Amino acid sequence: MALKSIAQRWFINSFAVIFVILLAIVTGSGFVIHNFYYSSVRQSLKYRANSVSSTVLQYSENASNSSFYTSMRDYVESFPDKDFVELMAIDPYGNVSMTSSGFSYQKKDRMPDYNEALSAPDGTGYYVGRLSNGQKIMAVTQMVSVVNSEISAMRFVVSLENVDAMIFQLIMGISIVAVAVLALVLISGLLFVKSIVRPVRDIGTAARQIAGGDFKSRIQKVSNDEVGELCETINFMADELENSEKMKNEFISSVSHELRTPLTAIKGWAETLIDTENYDLATMKKGMRVISAETERLSGMVEELLDFSRIQNGRFSLVFQKMDLLAELGEAVLMYAEKAKRDNIEIIYEEPEMLPVIYGDKNRLRQVFINIIDNAIKYSDPGGRVKIDAFARDEKIMITVADSGCGISPDDLPMIKTKFFKANHTRRGSGIGLAVANEIISMHHGSIDIESTLNVGTTVIITIPIHNPEEDIEANAAISYK
Ligand code: ADP
Repeated sequence: MALKSIAQRWFINSFAVIFVILLAIVTGSGFVIHNFYYSSVRQSLKYRANSVSSTVLQYSENASNSSFYTSMRDYVESFPDKDFVELMAIDPYGNVSMTSSGFSYQKKDRMPDYNEALSAPDGTGYYVGRLSNGQKIMAVTQMVSVVNSEISAMRFVVSLENVDAMIFQLIMGISIVAVAVLALVLISGLLFVKSIVRPVRDIGTAARQIAGGDFKSRIQKVSNDEVGELCETINFMADELENSEKMKNEFISSVSHELRTPLTAIKGWAETLIDTENYDLATMKKGMRVISAETERLSGMVEELLDFSRIQNGRFSLVFQKMDLLAELGEAVLMYAEKAKRDNIEIIYEEPEMLPVIYGDKNRLRQVFINIIDNAIKYSDPGGRVKIDAFARDEKIMITVADSGCGISPDDLPMIKTKFFKANHTRRGSGIGLAVANEIISMHHGSIDIESTLNVGTTVIITIPIHNPEEDIEANAAISYK
C-alpha cells in the first residue's frame, strides 16, 4: 500500500512532469529543425532564382531571338548544380520548354508555384509537395520579363528526400537522448522511492509491534537523513515507553508492598488483641496506637494516590486564599520532630520572624512540606541532619530543606520529579510524592529545584512568588462583579 502510493505520487509529480517537458522539447525542437532546414532550402532556391533571372535578362539584352534561345538552352543544360537542383525554363503558356535534367518533371505534374508567381507582385512562387511519382520536392518559380521571348519564367526544383532524412535523423537523435534521460530518471526515481519505502515499512512494522506491547522492538537506522531521524525518534519513543512501563510495574509492586506492610501490622495487632484473654491496658494501648498510626499511614498513601490520579485526569484543583506559609511549615516540622528523634536525626529549623503573606492553598502547601521533609528524613541515616530554612528574596519566598542523607546520582537527578521514578529502591515510597509536590508548586507559579551530591546530601529549594497571578485574576473578577 505504502509503496504504491509513494511511487504513484512520485510518478505523477516527478516522472510525468519530466516526461511532458521532454515531449515538449522533442516536439518543439523537431518543429524548429524542420522550419530551419525548409527555410534554408527555400532561401537558397530563391537566391538562385533571383540570380538566374538577372542572367536571363542579360542574355536577352545581348542576343538576338534565336541565339538567345540557343544560349539559354546551353545555360540550362549545363547548369552546374543540376545533379541535385533541377532548373527549368517555362514558356509564356505555362509549359516547361527546357529542363536541366528532366529527372522529375512529367507533363501531368502540376506547378502551383508557377501559378502563384503569375499573380505575385514580386513574381515569385513557392511550392512544397509530392510529384506524381511520390517524390517530395520544393519548387520556386521566378517570372522573367524578357521582351520578345519564349521564356516567361525560370523554375528551380529540388528533392526534399535528403533534407527530410536529415531532419528525421536529428529528431531521432534528440528522441533517443530524451528516452535515455527518462530511463535514467525512472531508474534513479524508483531506487529513491524504494530507499524511502523500505525503511518506512520497517518503521510501520516496529511501531505496530511497540503498539502491541513489545517495547523491546527497535528499528535499524539505515540512512543519515530524515528517515534515519524518524527511526531514532521511534527508538527513543520505544525507550521511553519501555522505561515508563518498567517504572509503572515497579510502582505497582512498591505500592502493593507499601500497602501490605501497615496492613500486616494492623492485622497482627488486631489478632493479638482478640486472642489474648487477659491482656493488660498497656498492651492494648500499644496495639491500638500501632493500629491508629498504620491506618494513618495507609490513608496518607491512599490520599497521595488519589491526588496523583486527579492530576493525571486534570481534576486536581486548589483552594487559594491569603495564608501564612510559616504556620504550615512550622506544623509540618512539628509533625516530624518526634519521628526524627526516634530515628536519631537532628532537625534544625530556626523559624524566621515573619514572611510576607501569600496567596495559596495552605493544605496543599503543607502537604508539599511534609513530603519534602519526609524524604529528607527517609533518605538520611541515623545521626544525620536536616536543616530547614525559610526566607523572602526578590519578590519570592524560598524554603530550603537540606539533608545529609544518601544523595542522588547525577544520572538520576533529572528524573526524580518524574512520576513513578525511584532512584533508591531500598527505602519505602511509591515514587509519586515529588511528582505531586511539583504539580502543586507549579500551580502556585513556583518551582522545586533539587541539588544533590551522592553520599553527601540533598537540598530541595522550593520557590513561591509572593504575588500570585491568581490573586489578580480574583481581584479583577471581584471588581467587575461590583
Ligand atoms: P518516594 O515515595 O519514592 O520517596 P518521591 O517522588 O518523593 O518518591 O521521590 C522520588 C525519588 O527521589 C525517591 O525514590 C528518591 O530516590 C529520590 N529522593 C527524593 N528526595 C530525596 C532525598 N532527600 N535524598 C535522596 N533521594 C531523594
